Amino acid sequence: MNSLEVSRLAYAYPDGTQALFGVDFTIGRGERVALLGPNGAGKTTLVMHLNGILTAGHGAVTVAGTPVRKDTLKEIRQRVGLVFQDPDDQLFMPTVRDDVAFGPANSGVAGEELERVVKAALDRVGMLDAIDRPPHHLSFGQRRRVAVATVLAMAPEILVLDEPSSNLDPAARRELAEILRSLDVTVLMVTHDLPYALELCDRSLILSDGVIAADGPTRELLADVELLAAHRLELPYGFAIPAPERG
Ligand code: ADP
Repeated sequence: MNSLEVSRLAYAYPDGTQALFGVDFTIGRGERVALLGPNGAGKTTLVMHLNGILTAGHGAVTVAGTPVRKDTLKEIRQRVGLVFQDPDDQLFMPTVRDDVAFGPANSGVAGEELERVVKAALDRVGMLDAIDRPPHHLSFGQRRRVAVATVLAMAPEILVLDEPSSNLDPAARRELAEILRSLDVTVLMVTHDLPYALELCDRSLILSDGVIAADGPTRELLADVELLAAHRLELPYGFAIPAPERG
């Protein structure tokens, strides 16, 4: 079973800007995949199709067999867990508990079961101790982990993370990597942090000018200097990946 199937997805904004030109890929259950690409490549437009904020101009998006359509949106939004770049766009309740409970409570989970779901989600991101705290008293890295918990509490089919390492100090960045690796869930991670992609995702997609320009093992893509340069992707200073040995 695939967690996500995107087939011939094309989309133009109302002003006529064509952002996606026929995007095709699938993500199998349990895979962790990085979505790389320069600014303006169409990454945000693609992500907005995954939970139906935008609906396909042409082509189709299917989440665990369910097509993303107006009549399936409720189910799709439960299955696709979007973690925004800014946790403050995701956390708005007086306590961490209330924020993590919000989604499941809306889906009808209540009482002891709700408390169990909330605690389990917080435990998975190492934030159970903060359950009674106001989110705005937490560090940025802690708020990002709680934002991940709000989504995990919905038992999503796929976790979609927008720039998960942005604004994190090195320790918080590493801690989040450990958490993401420990989760038994399909992940699509949009990132400009190529070492983070290498560390966390065996496979990467390069989206460029609205098409998938490359789809393969992260290590191979990042070792391909010409491919990176062609799509305005750059490894940090001093970071080099030896080309895979051939023959
Ligand atoms: P990325 O997330 O990779 O930076 P986007 O999906 O934001 O790329 O943008 C893809 C293309 O669509 C760009 O050319 C961008 O200018 C255009 N675009 C994004 N949002 C809109 C919008 N609301 N209206 C018109 N064009 C847009």
